[in-house]
Amino acid sequence: RTAGPPVLRVRDVTVRFAGLTALDDVSFTVSPGSVHALIGPNGAGKSTCFNVLSGLCRPAAGDVTLGDAELSRLAPHRIAALGVARTFQNIVTTEGTVADNLMLGRHLHSRAGFAASALRLPWVVREQREHLARAREIAELTGLEAHFDTPVALLSYGDRKRVEFARALCLEPSVLLLDEPVAGMNAAERARTAEAVRDVRAELGLSVVLVEHDMGLVMRLADEVTVLDFGRRIAHGTPDEVRGDPEVLRAYLGT
Ligand code: ADP
Ligand code: MG
Repeated sequence: RTAGPPVLRVRDVTVRFAGLTALDDVSFTVSPGSVHALIGPNGAGKSTCFNVLSGLCRPAAGDVTLGDAELSRLAPHRIAALGVARTFQNIVTTEGTVADNLMLGRHLHSRAGFAASALRLPWVVREQREHLARAREIAELTGLEAHFDTPVALLSYGDRKRVEFARALCLEPSVLLLDEPVAGMNAAERARTAEAVRDVRAELGLSVVLVEHDMGLVMRLADEVTVLDFGRRIAHGTPDEVRGDPEVLRAYLGT
């Protein structure tokens, strides 16, 4: 499952905000088809790390490579076009139907500009139909098929968070960054989301970087875990290795 060279390589990344080192010389790699969890207490630097990986934050030092491409100096849309998609910790969609939101994710793969779309040229209509079919498949994969034509404003919180996840998948990424995908969900919604992550990993063969506070979910989904504390990497290994690490217990329990 995790054979072959890493798809994503984060090397010695440092990010500083006025007077604060949010990431301090952090390195990790993501193996193809694996789930790599990034965990740590609040303020550890997890979201900052995602911001670096998606081009929203430029590191003071270090680099990020996807295959042969160096990402850390590219604009966010270029990184997305290379196959790195993300969800956000707090933003939850409220406009349009589920289908509308998933089609937004498909735009990156559309050849049609505004004029061609407005003229409804035959190839454009065909392309739109294909995108809709793909969006429907992804809705099925993420357990949203029953809600495909439902306005997202009418969905439960858990379903809306899963729309974010599905929209990121519609970019057909090779690496998916999930920032706290089950935060605020109830137990049933968490279980559904965990199942969806497992399914997409298996079916689409993509690699996932997962930031999550729900340790049960991390232990069940992750192949590898990197632990951050105050911007520093304090542990790395399998879920079992990390769980018993005294440094990790200290960081979490504050003792
Ligand atoms: P986590 O996601 O692990 O909770 P963050 O990456 O959000 O942590 O934050 C890491 C540290 O960097 C925190 O101390 C936070 O206050 C700080 N930080 C994050 N973003 C900014 C910013 N844009 N400007 C200044 N400080 C920031
Ligand atoms: Mg965060």
